[in-house]
Amino acid sequence: MATRKARGGTLIAGGGFAGAYVARYLGKRGCTIASPENFVLFTPMLPEAASGTLEPRHVVIPLRVMCPHAELLLDRLTALDTDTHTATVGPFKVEYERLVLALGSIPRALPIPGLAEAGSLTNETVFSLTELPKRLAVIGAGPIGCELAQAFRRLGSEVVLFDAAPHVLVREDADAAEILQRAFVRDGIRLVLSCELRRVTRRGPRRVIELAAGEVAVDEILVGAGRAPNVEGLGLEAVGVQYDPARGVLVNDHLQTTNPRIYAAGDVCMQHKFTHMADAAARIVIQNTLFLGRKKLSALHVPWCTYTDPEIAHVGMYERDAARQGIAVDTFVTPLSTVDRAIADGEEEGFVKVHVKKGTDRILGATIVARHAGEMLNEITLAMVGGLGLGTLANVIHPYPTQAEAIRKTADAYNRTRLTPRVKRVFQSWLAWTR
Ligand SMILES: Cc1cc2nc3c(=O)[nH]c(=O)nc-3n(C[C@H](O)[C@H](O)[C@H](O)COP(=O)(O)OP(=O)(O)OC[C@H]3O[C@@H](n4cnc5c(N)ncnc54)[C@H](O)[C@@H]3O)c2cc1C
Repeated sequence: MATRKARGGTLIAGGGFAGAYVARYLGKRGCTIASPENFVLFTPMLPEAASGTLEPRHVVIPLRVMCPHAELLLDRLTALDTDTHTATVGPFKVEYERLVLALGSIPRALPIPGLAEAGSLTNETVFSLTELPKRLAVIGAGPIGCELAQAFRRLGSEVVLFDAAPHVLVREDADAAEILQRAFVRDGIRLVLSCELRRVTRRGPRRVIELAAGEVAVDEILVGAGRAPNVEGLGLEAVGVQYDPARGVLVNDHLQTTNPRIYAAGDVCMQHKFTHMADAAARIVIQNTLFLGRKKLSALHVPWCTYTDPEIAHVGMYERDAARQGIAVDTFVTPLSTVDRAIADGEEEGFVKVHVKKGTDRILGATIVARHAGEMLNEITLAMVGGLGLGTLANVIHPYPTQAEAIRKTADAYNRTRLTPRVKRVFQSWLAWTR
């Protein structure tokens, strides 16, 4: 087997978002990427994309365009050798000084008896459907399940959404999840919650799902049970890289694995499996491997968005996180029914909710429910990154009418709490005197 040196000493295993971002940020230093594909593919789950056609709008970026200084080996990494710092990639042994594991994740399988035999779709294979299923079961009411359930319902499928939890998006802010659940009922999605799926059987063209309280027959089943990190079968143990099948490669706060030469980025090691987190992780890896930086994952403010209609966007802590950490919070909420633009748009069901550290205006977390909540959230994330308090957001002039005015109104609500009875009395006396 031919031996070769990784360009610039860096071998990146996986050419998805995390791998490609690391390679891109390495710039002219170059690197070698081991990837079975020569492009990065993204299929956005936007509600608009689902409104008229089954054809998804793929975004395909050739790796040669995204990282022009990388050497591309179009093969998988199949083994890691002990002691020699070499990896097997197709017909080559590649020597590296540093290795970045960016192997991504795969759809998580569910151990429901009969499901494998009956056949089901995943969040990857669903995009290859050429015909709309008349009746579709979606198992899992997490973000992926919710996005796809609503998309298929709006395309015209009869959709049944199953979950063991008592409501959709069980990890999300409960008020936000409640609004989405109502939207699903209006859309005509049948919700089967707090359920236990006992078995799936194939009866002719139908797949039949057995529950304690009867059965449901559908044409297709889509499993939306989250993503599992791609960690098995590479011999990570041989090079001292510890991993857990559910959590993925174990990394420290600097994204270094238990082997100091080996780093990891993206879905293979991170709790938050998002494209933007693959980017953030890539920046941390570059800083920490090349520039002796000590950038920390825990220092990031992580936003995310579930692309349903309405969208649910969140950053930072939920109330329950604060409670778990013993941090007292004050919460300020502005319903969209008090925001002129939302009224004009007919999108009054939603809110901006911000948690601050009790007695201060330090923003700890926020949830927004709105048609474009993902766009609105950026203002709050910026405030958190820049250390701006909620009170400062009251000084930001928002164009009228915009739904983001809800953020200023939330900041105004905070400022009103600073009016203690004594300050109020002083103001009233001043106004009376100047009248
Ligand atoms: C349907 C769907 C919709 C999504 N929508 C969003 C969204 O709207 N917003 C968002 O932020 N995130 C979204 N995500 C998540 C996002 O796609 C991932 O978080 C992101 O791609 C993670 O980047 P990654 O590089 O870690 O993994 P990936 O992009 O999956 O890349 C991993 C790469 O490693 C390769 N690989 C695997 N094994 C090997 C090996 N042995 N050797 C070499 N290469 C290997 C794979 O082929 C793959 O190309 C979505 C995911 C799915 C499935």
